[in-house]
Amino acid sequence: MIRPEAELPDLQTAIDFLAAQTVPVRTTSPDLVAQLRQAQSNVIRRIVCIGVDLDDTCDVLAQTRQTRAAEIEAGLALLTHWFDAKVVRIDQPSAETTYPNLLPEMLVLRLIRKRLPAGALPTEMGVLIVDVLTAAMLSSPSPSGGGWVGAASGNNQSIADLRSPPPPNLPRRGRDELPVILDDHIRQRRFRATVPPETPVSEILALAGVAEPMLLRHGPLVADRPVEPSTPIGQTDLQLHVLPPAPIVSAACTRCGECVAVCPVRIHPAALLQAAQLGNACDAARFDALACIECGLCTAVCPSSLPVRAGVIAAKRLVA
Ligand code: SF4
Ligand code: SF4
Repeated sequence: MIRPEAELPDLQTAIDFLAAQTVPVRTTSPDLVAQLRQAQSNVIRRIVCIGVDLDDTCDVLAQTRQTRAAEIEAGLALLTHWFDAKVVRIDQPSAETTYPNLLPEMLVLRLIRKRLPAGALPTEMGVLIVDVLTAAMLSSPSPSGGGWVGAASGNNQSIADLRSPPPPNLPRRGRDELPVILDDHIRQRRFRATVPPETPVSEILALAGVAEPMLLRHGPLVADRPVEPSTPIGQTDLQLHVLPPAPIVSAACTRCGECVAVCPVRIHPAALLQAAQLGNACDAARFDALACIECGLCTAVCPSSLPVRAGVIAAKRLVA
């Protein structure tokens, strides 16, 4: 249900409230509290709501879109109550949603034709990004399900009350939890769970019966992003991967150009890998290492199995 305007909290109240909660962060939903804080001093012209999963082998956002439509709408109504911005809904898979086009850097580039500086939030460029899970959470963000009513309507409930944890005898509400997919590439099977955002990856592994040493990744597999067992799910993407610890046997760079052809930000991954290997900060800057969005496509296509993405990230550190 969309609440009447009069019941909606002002932006500062919402920021104070959310800052005391566990608000999950993931690629499709960058740090919401930090975005809202930055939006207090930047004009927000676009609110992007992502309802398509980063990786087409994952369906958590697609399912959320189908099952929580009213909550998503209410969350977006709250955002448009705070910001006079155009809402861009991304709900249908298309060529424009294939990886890596939904990464924040690519979305900002496509929407306003400006490059998001390395490490910056999209709100720095006037674009606020949430996914449908975060939008749904915004419609009623309290762990006890109290929502915004107490914060906004002047009834007897105070902000301090809203921050209180729910009574221990109350079961945790499903809407506060995150749907997670664990793809076990060793046993060729998929495990699904719905867990509180604070749940460490190790608990998902235990639930799925994964015990032996393995490589852990999160998000699209092509991005090759490691994750520690102790990391809470609220700080990972919602797709986890268990992989065998196979050694990578690399050959020499043949300058085949595959990595250059695939790079979405049109930089030269092979040259940057070499700059990193030689510790050459001038070349790292000359070949624009900071433009890398760490998508991993260069590594995925390299016929010599070179750790190109890792090299480019090392080159970024030479420049930064
Ligand atoms: S794809 Fe691999 S082998 Fe080809 S140029 Fe890039 S780094 Fe070198
Ligand atoms: S990870 Fe590789 S392909 Fe992706 S942006 Fe960086 S250099 Fe380009």
